[in-house]
Amino acid sequence: FYGVASKKPGDRTYKLLEFLNLSNFNLKHQIIAIGIMASVFLFFKSVISLYLNRKVLYFLSRSAAKSSSTLLNLLLGSNLLTVNKRSIQEIIWSLTTGIQMIFVGILGASLSILTDILLLLILFSGLFIADLFTTLITIAIFVSIGLILNFTMRNHYIKTQSILSRILIATNEKTNEVILSFREIFVRGRQLFYAHEISSLRKQSADSSAEIAFLQNISKYVIELILVIGILLIIGTQFATQSPGRAVGVISIFIASATRIAPAILRIQQGLLTIRGNAAGAKLTFDLLAELKQDIKIFDNSLGKPDLNYQGFNPEIIIRNLNFKYPGNSEFEIKNIDLEIKPQTFFAIVGKSGSGKSTLVDLILGILQPDSGKILISNTEPSETIKRWPGAIGYVPQEVFLQNGTVYENITQGFEVGELPNELIENTVQVAQLTNVIDNLNNGIQSQIGDRGSKLSGGQRQRIGIARALVTKPKILVLDEATSSLDSDTENKLSNEILTLKRSTTLIVIAHRLSTIKNADTIIYLEKGAIVASGTFEQVRKLLPEFENQINQMKI
Ligand code: ADP
Ligand code: MG
Repeated sequence: FYGVASKKPGDRTYKLLEFLNLSNFNLKHQIIAIGIMASVFLFFKSVISLYLNRKVLYFLSRSAAKSSSTLLNLLLGSNLLTVNKRSIQEIIWSLTTGIQMIFVGILGASLSILTDILLLLILFSGLFIADLFTTLITIAIFVSIGLILNFTMRNHYIKTQSILSRILIATNEKTNEVILSFREIFVRGRQLFYAHEISSLRKQSADSSAEIAFLQNISKYVIELILVIGILLIIGTQFATQSPGRAVGVISIFIASATRIAPAILRIQQGLLTIRGNAAGAKLTFDLLAELKQDIKIFDNSLGKPDLNYQGFNPEIIIRNLNFKYPGNSEFEIKNIDLEIKPQTFFAIVGKSGSGKSTLVDLILGILQPDSGKILISNTEPSETIKRWPGAIGYVPQEVFLQNGTVYENITQGFEVGELPNELIENTVQVAQLTNVIDNLNNGIQSQIGDRGSKLSGGQRQRIGIARALVTKPKILVLDEATSSLDSDTENKLSNEILTLKRSTTLIVIAHRLSTIKNADTIIYLEKGAIVASGTFEQVRKLLPEFENQINQMKI
């Protein structure tokens, strides 16, 4: 009796035993020796896998986080039009789920596929030693099954996955929408409309998720079935063509190998699907990346201490032959604007709604890029000026966005607590006519104001916006209809305070009430994006009957 080899499962097994110097041992010892070797091998394989698995997961997650912030930096370094091209939910998806899908989904799955391919190679070489023919048959069967499954399910899987990500984004958008326009929907009594819409989206996403899970299970069952059929076939053919001893050997090798090979092939096939699906889900991220790559302008991440002296900054603005069109809007353009705004002057922009006042201001501030022409603030391009003297320009947009936080956090937006001197903040609060408002809040300046400042009145929100712009002691202050929600008394007080800033600050004001710009040094009147008159209040009034009419209607 010569152990395993006496059963003649194949020449190679015998050779392996010979190679290990085990051929002369009896069966019991051969089994014990092989068993110990296998156990030791499996033990180390598991420990090393565990270790590598942890390393890889951490590496992938951290790389994802890093890429996410790089992509955000790229986006913030681009311009308003690029940012506004996508919905907020699409951007959030691209920066979070999309990135996660690329790193953990695509790269993670690729790594597992590699591991499984390695495992297969090891199995194959082991089996190859045992029985060449059986091994080849086994490989052929399962690899072709894997390929067939992959080709038949691929497109459906990709489609379902991209539908799923669309639906998830749409659900978030709808939820956002219903909360942001809660007032209007409440008064219209159309809450149920949104409830239905969102529940229908949830149902669609549930169906897509189930479909994706099911698609992954199909392979499992198909491969199990093939395994059973394969075993039956092998049993049939082997007993028909071989001696019983040989047949038992081949069959056991097939079963042993197939039960190891099949799961590995299954994992590879599912890994390929995962890669495809995640690539479809991460399409938004890939698209965003491709677009931002065209004009890479990564922010340098050095956030220096605030320096509110603005040494060397000259609050003068020069505009030469400025032209601008919104992509996709042929109706409106900023036409041939030439301007000089002198330091420490009061400059006003007037014109009807839609005449291009906000657009001109966006261009001056570098928020929008001109198609042609030049804008210089303190002799440099706006975006460069802002980089060099951050805080030197204060800006209150037409619609102020307040964050969910305290009054203090909203005023000092973008700065750490305590980074700006307290007396500066107090002074700002006073200029912005916020002293009374803050005194009446429970926790003073540390009171929470709710999402988008929902616990405040429109006028109070606007004044926080003004305080936010003033808190860096700007040398240029731009107000875009910044006092439109104030009562005329508060507006007058605020205007007087702001006028006193003129000693150190250039003022650019888009006026809501014409009374506030009566004392401007220069007024330009815009019509369809072009300057149709400029001069002092009285001069423009004489030049333009239309302006005269507006003044008379307001009884100034
Ligand atoms: P104003 O501030 O004087 O009321 P705006 O500068 O906001 O006017 O707008 C000027 C014109 O530009 C309007 O006709 C408006 O429809 C158009 N417009 C504003 N923003 C965009 C945009 N992002 N894309 C396309 N057209 C825009
Ligand atoms: Mg406007």
